[in-house]
Amino acid sequence: MQTIGLLGGMSWESTAGYYRAINQGIKKELGGLHSARIVMYSVDFAPIEKLQHQGDWQKTGEILGNAAQGIEAGGADFFLLCTNTMHKVADMVEAAVHIPLLHIADATGKALQYEKIQTVGLLGTAFTMEEHFYKGRLEEKFGLQVIVPGKAERQLVHNIIYQELCLGKVSPASRDIYLRTVDNLAQRDAEAVILGCTEIGMLLRKEDTSLPLFDTTLIHAASAVKKALVAD
Ligand code: GLU
Repeated sequence: MQTIGLLGGMSWESTAGYYRAINQGIKKELGGLHSARIVMYSVDFAPIEKLQHQGDWQKTGEILGNAAQGIEAGGADFFLLCTNTMHKVADMVEAAVHIPLLHIADATGKALQYEKIQTVGLLGTAFTMEEHFYKGRLEEKFGLQVIVPGKAERQLVHNIIYQELCLGKVSPASRDIYLRTVDNLAQRDAEAVILGCTEIGMLLRKEDTSLPLFDTTLIHAASAVKKALVAD
């Protein structure tokens, strides 16, 4: 089994979900007392969130590049950035180490392709929904048509992530807002919706809506399990 590197803490609430999902995946595959080999570096999210909103992505890339070096030194064979948003600086982080990064948009794109989805809605932070680094990768590499909510809904979705979910707060009122947003994406012909922020799975579950939901935390974790076992 290969050793999985987790660059987490963004937020720690979602990294706890990765830790559980990866260990459950290894247990399912190998049985008994088997568990995942993991090297984790969990950052302090507060300064990173501040830099994101100040637009200082260069600095965030440096912080995460240093963290990735710690993961490499700890013996990981490959690593995951446990957040969609911070893939905005994936190139910088990847360049800081010699081990490969398992990109969250690639894992998600493959899962969508496998299910033959062509038009997909995307929920995430404003950075993820509005900028090219994530949507563009899904469109160019996987031939998907990616649609995002309107401006007012994007703002609500973004605020709920930073003001509630990253703090571990799960509110029924916010779930209703998300479900309305999912319905609106379905009206615009989305065949499925990407939960493109690693905390959204805390709020929305498969059974909450008839539209298929692609939870990036679970997809990313499952692809790490698969890769860790490939050499066995
Ligand atoms: N975990 C989130 C994501 O997947 C948001 C927190 C962050 O800004 O990294 O995008």
